[in-house]
Amino acid sequence: MSHTADRESGQVVARALRPYGTSIFTEMTDLAITHGAVNLSQGFPDFDGPEEIRREVLPRKGAIIQTKSVRSTGSDELFAQREAQRCLQCSYICNKCVEVCPNRANVVISVPVEAGFGQDEQIVHIDALCNECGNCATFCPWNGKPYKDKFTVFNLREDFDNSENDGFLIEGESAVVRLNGAVRSLPLNEEGSIESDELDSRVSAMIETIVHKHAYLLGEVDR
Ligand code: SF4
Ligand code: SF4
Repeated sequence: MSHTADRESGQVVARALRPYGTSIFTEMTDLAITHGAVNLSQGFPDFDGPEEIRREVLPRKGAIIQTKSVRSTGSDELFAQREAQRCLQCSYICNKCVEVCPNRANVVISVPVEAGFGQDEQIVHIDALCNECGNCATFCPWNGKPYKDKFTVFNLREDFDNSENDGFLIEGESAVVRLNGAVRSLPLNEEGSIESDELDSRVSAMIETIVHKHAYLLGEVDR
């Protein structure tokens, strides 16, 4: 568009907005300043954020590099540690992979922090709902690929076998779990809990939370 056309179209917009007076953005910005509130009216904060949150964010951003090396160690404990630390659930810092997925294939579950998580909200990936569009990877500020990196719920053995994601499948009375490439079948007791101490408590807690509170995510799906 030429400068003249640009200016003319700007004038048209300005004329069209004139009857509406002060815009909502101006008003919300004034209110935010008056009350010392976070100004989200234009879709994102217009400042760097509180210092204590920034102090938390920056070291965690570094964990993305650690992610790759952790994978190669084959350690369940390190996998769980990574999952406990890497994502920031503050609504204006992240959670993007949940929000941008057109298929709702990334969901937030609330896990007991006593299991060893730094925060109670963790993201799990639902294999059956994902068409691998890659949108969540595009938006992940950690340069991660949530649809590949996140602990995954599988509904079909065939899909489990065809994937390399860490995750689990309920098969009969057992949870078939893959972590760092190693697959094991662990029996569930009558309460739907894993009694074996083979798994890191944080991984067990994620599986048990899904079995106890989100069983609708389990079970067979159409091929
Ligand atoms: S890759 Fe899968 S999880 Fe990620 S946005 Fe696309 S459908 Fe959703
Ligand atoms: S987009 Fe990335 S950093 Fe944000 S919650 Fe999802 S996986 Fe974590």
